[in-house]
Amino acid sequence: MNPKNSTLGFIHSTYALGAVDGPGLRFLVFLQGCTLRCLYCHNPDSIKLPKIDSSQFNFANKDKLKGSCSPLTGITYTQCTARDLFAKIKRYKGYLTSHQGGITISGGEPLLQADFVTELLQLCKEEGIHSAIDTSGFPPLSQTKKALKLADLILMDLKAIDGELYRKITSVDIQPSLNTINFLQENQIPTWIRFVLVPNLNDSEEHLNEIGLFLKNLHEQQKFIEKFEVLPFHQIGAFKWEELGEKYLLKDFREANEEDVKRCYEIVNKYVNLTELASRENNSIN
Ligand code: SF4
Repeated sequence: MNPKNSTLGFIHSTYALGAVDGPGLRFLVFLQGCTLRCLYCHNPDSIKLPKIDSSQFNFANKDKLKGSCSPLTGITYTQCTARDLFAKIKRYKGYLTSHQGGITISGGEPLLQADFVTELLQLCKEEGIHSAIDTSGFPPLSQTKKALKLADLILMDLKAIDGELYRKITSVDIQPSLNTINFLQENQIPTWIRFVLVPNLNDSEEHLNEIGLFLKNLHEQQKFIEKFEVLPFHQIGAFKWEELGEKYLLKDFREANEEDVKRCYEIVNKYVNLTELASRENNSIN
């Protein structure tokens, strides 16, 4: 491809070597913009959609602009083409591959910029760099299938399994996310299910049992889930909501502790053999 015809992306930030969002050492790319509004979001500054003509930011950014990473005045994200960003990532290839890692594209919701993500994933594939997408699964499959199929691993954020609770947490309907999970299952795309555990919000025994049953049913049909990961809720991002002048509704909620996490695993583990799932994790990287 002509480097001048690379897709433009809206990037919140990058982090060269992270160790939590996927296997091994990861180059993390956080894309700007999200249509959810999770109560516990610790990157609320990444939610805001770029202030541009909406036709330029419509799940499939068709703009092909000459490449350069340039800060935009007065706002926190940068514009960058997939090729320019990949050139930066490639410099870390040695570290990433020797530590069984790769890149993870997160956000915001990365699949709102499906064309950009697809191009970046394609470049990673050509270069033999492992890739993961961290997604809510909310953007429509009509726009995201190609990117989902190209990634080596999907980090699928399960906010809740109860529809009413899902809406309370995210402000949106659960169905698009379930559609994405079904697509991952049908296509046997390696997936980690990740669940942010918030005491007194989504940790009732009944709800955790529902999650366990949901995962069991998925796993019995197609073994595409490699891991179930509980992420304990913390208050680290609280100050960002205040800085943005936004109301932070979880101010009085306590952080999840080790006991909470253990309890969650124990309940879900009654339904799905997590030890078995975790042991398949290493298969994610070829
Ligand atoms: S999906 Fe992620 S980025 Fe979007 S609001 Fe929820 S936690 Fe924040």
